[in-house]
Amino acid sequence: MPRLATKIGALLFCPDCGTLLNLPQENEAEVKCEQCGHKEPASSYENIEIITRSHPDAFPSALAQKRKTQTKVHESDDALLRVTELCPQCGHTEAFSKEMQLRSADEGSTIFYTCVKCKFGWRVNN
Ligand SMILES: [Zn+2]
Ligand SMILES: [Zn+2]
Repeated sequence: MPRLATKIGALLFCPDCGTLLNLPQENEAEVKCEQCGHKEPASSYENIEIITRSHPDAFPSALAQKRKTQTKVHESDDALLRVTELCPQCGHTEAFSKEMQLRSADEGSTIFYTCVKCKFGWRVNN
């Protein structure tokens, strides 16, 4: 079974390399990761709409945890933060970041970075 993209808000990140995936073009069945060639079915994006529109509490524990641990950062849940972070690929110093709480608090959280310039994606485990 193929791995599906990591969903953060309305954004999809490549499950293999963490790169922010583009939105599918009209009539396109899948989206190809520019970084590693992973192919994400366009249906993944449809699932996002269902989750965000009719199930706002789809990830209640993750959000609750995030509010507890991230009081210093006040951004909306689906906004990407623009941070100063060195891109390992092109050396650019600006990247979008998004922290995602994994299954349980014990496992910590993962910060996803996507280079502003070359769109290279990587992740850092806390
Ligand atoms: Zn990829
Ligand atoms: Zn870069």
